[in-house]
Amino acid sequence: MADCIFCKIAQGAIPSVKVYEDDLVYAFLDISPINKGHVLVIPKEHHESSSTVPEAVAGRLFHVGSRIGIALKRKFDWDGFNLHLADGTAAGQVVMHVHLHVVPRGVDDQFHWNWRQLKYDDGEMAAIADGIKEKFVF
Ligand code: 5GP
Ligand code: ZN
Repeated sequence: MADCIFCKIAQGAIPSVKVYEDDLVYAFLDISPINKGHVLVIPKEHHESSSTVPEAVAGRLFHVGSRIGIALKRKFDWDGFNLHLADGTAAGQVVMHVHLHVVPRGVDDQFHWNWRQLKYDDGEMAAIADGIKEKFVF
C-alpha cells in the first residue's frame, strides 16, 4: 500500500536493519525495542489485520518468528521470548500493517505485561464459547 511505512520497509524504500527475508515475509529490528534484539516479522503483502493473511503466510510468519526467538536465545543468552501481535487500535496496534513482535526475554529483565486475570460468573464460560462457535468461520 502506497503510504504504508512497513510496505516501504519490506520494499527497501525506507531503511531498516534486516534479520531475515524470503518470498513471503521480511524481518527487521524494532526501532524502539522492549529488549535489545526485539524483531518485527511482517508479510511482504499489505494486510492491516491478521484475519486476512492467507494461512501459508501466517504459518511462515509464526515459523520465522519462533526461529528468530531461538536465534536470540542461542546467540545472546536470553531465557525466553514473547511472540506478540496487536490486531486493531484497541489492542495496541499502531502501525496498520500486520506484524509479529519477537521480544527476547530474561528472567530479570524488569518488563511486565500487566496481564490481569478476571473471573467468570456461573454459566458465562459456556455462553461465551457458544457465541464464538456461532460466529467462527474457518
Ligand atoms: P504496534 O504497536 O503497532 O504493535 O508496533 C509497532 C512497532 O513498530 C513499534 O514497536 C515501533 O517501535 C515499531 N516501529 C514503528 N515505526 C518504525 C520504523 O520506522 N522502523 C522500525 N524499525 N520500527 C518501527
Ligand atoms: Zn503495508
